[in-house]
Amino acid sequence: MDTSIKDQDLVKNPIPLLSKLRIILIFALAILGLYLTSLYNYLLYHSLVEIFSIIIGCSIFILVWNSKRHLDNGYLLLVGIAYLFVSMLDLAHMLAYKGMGIFTDYDANLPTQLWIAARYLQSLSLLAAPLFLHHKLNIRWALASYFAITILLLVTIFSGVFPDCFVEGEGLTPFKIISEYTISFTLLFAVTLLLQNREFFDREVLRWLTIALLLTIGTELAFTFYINVYGLSNLIGHLFKIMAFYFVYKAIVEMGLERPQLLMFRTLKQSESALENALAQAQLLANTDSLTGLYNRHYFFELSKLELERAHRYQHCLSAIMLDIDEFKRINDTYGHAVGDQVLQEIAECCRQSVRKVDVLGRYGGDEFAIMLPETELSAACQVAEHLREHIAKRNLLTDAGIVKVTVSLGVSTLNSEVTTPENLLSSADRLLYNAKHNGRNRVSNIDAPSFYKPPSFSAEN
Ligand code: GH3
Ligand code: MG
Repeated sequence: MDTSIKDQDLVKNPIPLLSKLRIILIFALAILGLYLTSLYNYLLYHSLVEIFSIIIGCSIFILVWNSKRHLDNGYLLLVGIAYLFVSMLDLAHMLAYKGMGIFTDYDANLPTQLWIAARYLQSLSLLAAPLFLHHKLNIRWALASYFAITILLLVTIFSGVFPDCFVEGEGLTPFKIISEYTISFTLLFAVTLLLQNREFFDREVLRWLTIALLLTIGTELAFTFYINVYGLSNLIGHLFKIMAFYFVYKAIVEMGLERPQLLMFRTLKQSESALENALAQAQLLANTDSLTGLYNRHYFFELSKLELERAHRYQHCLSAIMLDIDEFKRINDTYGHAVGDQVLQEIAECCRQSVRKVDVLGRYGGDEFAIMLPETELSAACQVAEHLREHIAKRNLLTDAGIVKVTVSLGVSTLNSEVTTPENLLSSADRLLYNAKHNGRNRVSNIDAPSFYKPPSFSAEN
């Protein structure tokens, strides 16, 4: 089995329909399993959800931390560091949950305060992260700040300074409810900023991150109205949380490991394609004549060598035409150099219109043009040359000085027993061109000997 082709397919079409359905099914089963767990033992359900989000939070940090040297900007680094400390607060929240029996001197207010502290930290970090899309992040400062903020939050919570969030028997305090709305608005603002900076993200990453943030808002809203930490809205809120973290996992961990070029080294990838484009552009400039857009002499000769090799290998005929404008100096002298340039451009266009796609066309020198005609024997090449001569002689060339008429002389040569190299072929066509000039101009002069190879039985596609 060719796995490389499968991988390529995966990049083009990231999730085929069948896999999508499988993911949805697994997801639904996981949610159902969690729901049944919550019916059996709510504390177990809660711990599973929190452990899942803690693992994802830490994975994001590990992934981002180990790629920090290569990251394009500070966005992911800030998110990674933030998720580590959010995970710490979530761990404390999980351990403090009612029934865990770890912080025995505290009631359900403690885990709720830890929850709200973690959510503030998470939402404000997601809001601040887009600022670092344009800047590098000072890692030491970021780590020290997050460490200090987390310690401060823990101290205020455990010492009783942090506002109460839950009163046993009464339910949520206004501070907790207002906080959840504040956090939801902060996250909404973070989504807006994320979408405003969409050019920094791969489409898929952006999609997962947006879904994750919207689900987090859902989580917060579900947590605005429970009166019992084991109640339904608490259950739904935690289900939202697990889904939100799953999408953060997809956006950052999965993409970071599977396709780091789309997530972490996106700018690098963009610079790479910009460089490739610039290189292609430079190559084009190096190979073409800037006035007419035809291949320049050097590149025309390179392509001629290839055509000659191909002709010998497949024993196909190959012919060449050399074309030179008659008394072009007079045009320059009469109308000026700029008009002369326009005439050259018009002649180039006539040549373009008269040859096939497979033919190689170049500006060989000042007013001299060359055409390489693969799989074309002498008689056919002479017809092309004659057609071109007539076409140019009849054509009214449109210039700034009005209509200008010119004629051209052409030499036609072909590959035969004596003409076997590209140099021979072109110099023989050039010699014949000067015969045409010598014989009175505005004519075609061709080699006597017929083509060495016969044309192939099929005709070349136009
Ligand atoms: P002949 O019939 O013998 O070819 O006469 P000619 O006047 O065309 O003579 P020749 O081909 O030797 O002259 C080419 C002229 O083309 C000389 C040069 O001044 C002019 N030329 C070369 N390159 C350019 C260019 O890029 N633009 C313009 N306007 N003129 C050019
Ligand atoms: Mg000339």
